[in-house]
Amino acid sequence: MTRLLHRALKTPPMAVSAEGITFTDAGGKTYIDACGGAAVSCLGHGHPDVLAAIHRQADQVAYAHTGFFTTEAAEGLGERLVADAPEGISHAYLVSGGSEAVEAALKMARQYFAEKGETQRRHVIARRQSYHGNTLGALAVGGNEWRRAQFRPLLMEAHHIAPCYAYREQRQTESDAEYAVRAAGELEAKIEELGAENVIAFVAEPVVGATAGAVPPVADYFKRIREICDRNGILLILDEVMCGMGRTGTLHACEQEGIAPDLMTIAKGLGGGYQPIGAVLLNEKIHDAFAQGSGFFQHGHTYMGHPMAAAAALAVQEVIARDDLLANVRAMGAYLRERLEDAFGQHANVGDVRGRGLFQAIELVADRETKAPFDPAAKLNKHIKAQAMERGLMVYPMGGTIDGVHGDHVLLAPPFVVGREDVDTIVARLSDAVDAALAEVAA
Ligand SMILES: *Cc1c(COP(=O)(O)O)cnc(C)c1O
Repeated sequence: MTRLLHRALKTPPMAVSAEGITFTDAGGKTYIDACGGAAVSCLGHGHPDVLAAIHRQADQVAYAHTGFFTTEAAEGLGERLVADAPEGISHAYLVSGGSEAVEAALKMARQYFAEKGETQRRHVIARRQSYHGNTLGALAVGGNEWRRAQFRPLLMEAHHIAPCYAYREQRQTESDAEYAVRAAGELEAKIEELGAENVIAFVAEPVVGATAGAVPPVADYFKRIREICDRNGILLILDEVMCGMGRTGTLHACEQEGIAPDLMTIAKGLGGGYQPIGAVLLNEKIHDAFAQGSGFFQHGHTYMGHPMAAAAALAVQEVIARDDLLANVRAMGAYLRERLEDAFGQHANVGDVRGRGLFQAIELVADRETKAPFDPAAKLNKHIKAQAMERGLMVYPMGGTIDGVHGDHVLLAPPFVVGREDVDTIVARLSDAVDAALAEVAA
């Protein structure tokens, strides 16, 4: 009996404690957190330094409405985020999660042009098989057909181009460089079709997360995207809610692409789950347009700039820097990849092992040669999740990898504190879970 509307209208196990990379449920069973929930828990659970910072902030100022006050915690986080941000970023706007960050970024982009008198601009372009959040604006921009379908009548207009998804879309005869040109070329064509003067922004995840499973771009794709945005005078919004804040081995995923966005959204790893928090990082030109124009950003939420959330996020980011955990992300990311290749590289039902840093995935196929996916009705991803949970392993499997309906993948995003033996256990349990799920589906 529950009075909560649970996600799947079914009560999941009751978590009673969480420490490091391990959860314990009410029955005393333990689970290794190999996905950080949804790539959230970057520091693991129960970190004493973060808990102490939250306690201190609760004693000092637990809440202050941003229409009246700012706080040291929020100012401190803003300073840190900008100091470590990609080139040109001058300010941070603090919200309570990823969807809120995406909504705010879209409105900032629109208001930026409105401040400059370019009020005719109305189009946002994004990519198929992307995820930008579940609120209506973010859902409209996102490219996951299954998530969008029943809400379509409520969604604002948005335009979608192909993702950069080498395993499925790069031709056998095509080099990475040629594929980068072709995939990015879709943006140029779409801008031309809509009229550059009518376009506000292009939105993309540098490494695609939940909907496609840790899909990194090919080299130079984002350099071309940046060039196309600049040439056409439109803004580039990078959604690093999942792939950012160290997950791929650099603080920001876009660092590895050698580009900087005009607006960037971050969330999940920002607070590591200790508090709900997200942020938009904005380029100085956007701040200046507001400062020299209307003098304010026409937006806001009750809980924005929340001092408890800011204090927790600041502590998380300080620990990551102090303990040089990004070095561990790179080392353990490489090791995880190696172990996944060992376990699944020749597996008859795994077509691709991919990712960056501690953000890795496997894509399941019915046939390696043709890359044919499993019948979506078999719900292979759900079987894998259940089999993994049975073995005390949390991973993040998802269906609809290819087009929102077909395809299955399993995403791994363990906390940055994960060790070699943990990685061995994670891969061993995953391997068993995948084989057990495949046997169930075949039966
Ligand atoms: C999770 C996610 C969001 C939405 O964040 P919420 O905190 O769930 O609202 C947006 N963009 C990306 C890339 C995400 O992975």
